[in-house]
Amino acid sequence: MAALPGDIGIRNVPGMGSEPAPDATTRDVHFAVSCDCGASVLLGIEVSLNKTAADITAVMPTIVSVLSDQAKDFQAKTCQEHTLMRMGSTTG
Ligand SMILES: [Zn+2]
Repeated sequence: MAALPGDIGIRNVPGMGSEPAPDATTRDVHFAVSCDCGASVLLGIEVSLNKTAADITAVMPTIVSVLSDQAKDFQAKTCQEHTLMRMGSTTG
């Protein structure tokens, strides 16, 4: 995931959820974007475990693009909106 641009503040979130079942074909990978005000949002991508490294490399630009768009969406909001998002969240 080193391909993610560092300047938008996306970080990988290891250990989210449980390990995939032995026969699972996909796995959710989670990323978090946070703001200086303390608000943060989780972004999720489903990755096929059947893909080879070359396959993953091929789709990385798409994944990065999707995550970047979602991160920019979040960062485009004001901190007032971030606060409302935090208040509306029950997961704290
Ligand atoms: Zn904020």
